[in-house]
Amino acid sequence: MLRLIFFIIVIAALSIATAWVGENEGTITIRWLGYEIQTTMMLILSALLAFIIVTILFVELILYLINIPNKYRRYLEQHRQKEVLKTLTTGFAALISHDQKAANKSAKHALKLLSNKEGSELADLLAASVAQMGGDEDKAQEHYSNLLENKTTKLVGLQGLIESQLQNKNTSKAIDLARQAVIVQPDNAQAAEKLLSLYKKSGKWADIQLLLNNYSRRKWNKIHGKDSEYDAEIALAIFMRALKAKEQNDLNAEELIKQAYKHNMEFIPAIMLMVSYAQEHDEISQAANVCKKAWEKIPHEQIAELYLSLYPQLNEEKRIKLIRKLIAKNKNHPLSYYILAREYFEQGDFTTAKEYTQKALVAGETKTLAGLMLKIIEKDYTSLPEEKDKWRDILRNTSYDPAWFCDKCLYIVGKSWQVECPNCHEIGYVTWSDSAKIHQAE
Ligand SMILES: [Zn+2]
Repeated sequence: MLRLIFFIIVIAALSIATAWVGENEGTITIRWLGYEIQTTMMLILSALLAFIIVTILFVELILYLINIPNKYRRYLEQHRQKEVLKTLTTGFAALISHDQKAANKSAKHALKLLSNKEGSELADLLAASVAQMGGDEDKAQEHYSNLLENKTTKLVGLQGLIESQLQNKNTSKAIDLARQAVIVQPDNAQAAEKLLSLYKKSGKWADIQLLLNNYSRRKWNKIHGKDSEYDAEIALAIFMRALKAKEQNDLNAEELIKQAYKHNMEFIPAIMLMVSYAQEHDEISQAANVCKKAWEKIPHEQIAELYLSLYPQLNEEKRIKLIRKLIAKNKNHPLSYYILAREYFEQGDFTTAKEYTQKALVAGETKTLAGLMLKIIEKDYTSLPEEKDKWRDILRNTSYDPAWFCDKCLYIVGKSWQVECPNCHEIGYVTWSDSAKIHQAE
């Protein structure tokens, strides 16, 4: 552009000069090497103008010719880039729609197009995913490994390698890689979650503690979303260590049991372990206090049973008194009414037992409550026959009951807690519900 403006200015200036000279004619004589040329100023200027125009055009032509190979190279590169884009798009689309053959073809072509070039990681990612889809883990690993060299794609490469190692059932190698992934990006929720879940599956509870201790509660919750349970995760890890230590009569057992309980005072298995441990060591009042404290937040039938077992051989009146002490701070909870009703039933006071069962039933019918009611009515001679039929029907029709269930797959685990869901095999998702819907169990 600048060159064109300059060219126009020069031409304009020369034209004006030519016109001016045309109006002021004169002659010029040149003598050189024995020749003599006589000419007009007008002719000289015209020749000069023609010479400049020809020179400029000549230079432009030369520059154009010199640029041809560059332009051609640029054209080829643009063409290649378009082809790369098209190949990758086709490849990933085929991958997502599970078209193995088309995806494989695109992957091979992309690898060729991008070999040793910028963006070759995309071809590797496509090739690795295609290999994994076809079950060729060795090839998948080879391509995922190529992603490790680039800082941006390192995590993707590691994640691919982890899945590949898991396909090969090589958990310890997968754990090594998952550790590396957390080091590469500690703030990546998926990476931390993966390592946590692999640790859980391998029972590496001490490692879980170490992993979680690397994060503050705030930071962990920020990465994993509001409802992530930092303390519950740590409590589970310590609880599992405590269980093992107790089994092996390890000296650390007491400390671990206390720590697990402190980290999550609403984790029923940790509460029960704490109570059992205190009971075994004759710390009865401490055990009773743990039960009472637990009842305030999460009343549970097994806690009541454990609590009553702390005081064997009490007379009927004292047992009722003891139960009232346990439920004192949460006496309107349906389970508080149920525990009392059951005790009165055992002691043969069917009228009071019925009264408390009815109170418990206000919160909703469950199999346990309907069952107790039916037993009371069968024993209580004042009951009417239609009452019996009514509760038999309710017992048959209600599908709710307190139970441990898996938060992940909703499977009903039953009346005792387990660390692993027997259905989906996920670890640490078995949760208590006061009225779980018993659909799978039937
Ligand atoms: Zn499950």
